[in-house]
Amino acid sequence: MIHDQANYEREGENVREPLLSEKGQETVDVREESPLPDDLTREELTLPNPSEPETARHYTRLSQMNWAIDSGPYPLGSCTMKYNPKFTEDVAADTNAAIHPDRSERSAQGNLELQHRLQEVLAEIGGMDAVTLQPPAGAAGELTGILVAKAYHEHHGNDRSEVVIPASAHGTNFATAATAGYDVVELPSGEDGRVDLEALEAAVGDDTAALMLTNPNTVGLFERDITEIADIVHDAGGLLYYDGANLNALLGRGRPGDMGFDVMHYNVHKTFATPHGGGGPGAGPVGVVDELAPFLPTPRVREADEGSGYERFEPDHTIGKVHGFAGNWLVSIKAYAYIARLGDEGLADAAAKAVLNANYLAERIDLDVPFGPFHHEFAATAGDRDAADVAKRMLDFGVHPPTTKWPEMVPEAMLTEPTEIEGQSSLDDLAEAFNLAYADTDEALDAAPNRTAAGRIDQVGAARNPRLSWQALDGE
Ligand SMILES: *Cc1c(COP(=O)(O)O)cnc(C)c1O
Repeated sequence: MIHDQANYEREGENVREPLLSEKGQETVDVREESPLPDDLTREELTLPNPSEPETARHYTRLSQMNWAIDSGPYPLGSCTMKYNPKFTEDVAADTNAAIHPDRSERSAQGNLELQHRLQEVLAEIGGMDAVTLQPPAGAAGELTGILVAKAYHEHHGNDRSEVVIPASAHGTNFATAATAGYDVVELPSGEDGRVDLEALEAAVGDDTAALMLTNPNTVGLFERDITEIADIVHDAGGLLYYDGANLNALLGRGRPGDMGFDVMHYNVHKTFATPHGGGGPGAGPVGVVDELAPFLPTPRVREADEGSGYERFEPDHTIGKVHGFAGNWLVSIKAYAYIARLGDEGLADAAAKAVLNANYLAERIDLDVPFGPFHHEFAATAGDRDAADVAKRMLDFGVHPPTTKWPEMVPEAMLTEPTEIEGQSSLDDLAEAFNLAYADTDEALDAAPNRTAAGRIDQVGAARNPRLSWQALDGE
């Protein structure tokens, strides 16, 4: 991008794309256009005045400064960043889909039927009995599920204060338990990277409200002892919570409900369709077994009596609302469209390819990969190299790097999830990028990335002290 390279001044910035207003502005008379009262309007506004091609080029350049699944592989472990078929966007953009959520039941029958169908199909996929579509993300689903579990215990007069979570779990699990008012009991991983049954026996007891488990876990290992784990937790009077972020490894092949889980969330934006990252929007429906259904958020949708369509209803002991209306409904529509298009066989096939791809890539890279065989993801170790440096160098070789330094049970971890969408040549490219970066010189790793719009940025600073307006940045 030679464009405006002369303006490249800020530290870490390899390419500088000016704002549209910096390219030229025009003062326009806006008074006549406005239906608002005079004292609320301005007569003139100074606005950018780019031509259509300038505008198109500006936004195209901006879009190319960031990484996108539409431009290359994005094997960010745990996050499941995969290509999302565009037909799901078309379905969600249908004007009959995005109806006002306050429409009467009578005039919203199509939408209610779709909500009901999605509740049913998710329940079937998860082996659950009842589903709410309301939570707007996986983390929100976790909190909803744990609050439902808490309401269940309280309803039965059980005062339980602890939630047990494996050390390898996603940070949101710990945050969820704490936010719901529980003490967190951290479970160390066994030598084989899985739950250690003896440690679990020691950790659960009369105070255990639930065990939160991800299966396959965050290094892609299936918890083979899951039925024993379920027995241990249930015998202690606790509930078993399934973190559904890795459900794409099991689709059509195994169901959390059949393994003994009582409550789960689905990260539909990971498992089914919807581009995510950068804060969403996603959706995190929650499924439960019959005993927990009365505590789900309100409203849910059911078939009305005598074939008279569908109706909203309030579960008997509902925990209330966790989001407005039916949650991020358009995201739910995309999930339904994706599930309907793939069907039983397509979903099972997606799971098989996700697993095959992860294992193929794990074999092709020069880095050590502890544990295995894997399901849909694996945690390689960068050994005595810095995982973050190797990752930054991978960007120079044209692929997005994996998640780094997590989970902590693998030192200098590079948690890699190619997903089902990559073909063999793209997996080979990924492996080559891994191997080139891993074998590169210290100097090259220190200086990386060089071929991206921005160089090495202050990631912690960006997260802790975000400056979200151009003025704030320019005003320095
Ligand atoms: C992504 C993820 C979550 C949180 O889900 P969000 O939809 O991002 O809120 C929870 N657990 C695991 C294992 C995840 O990968």
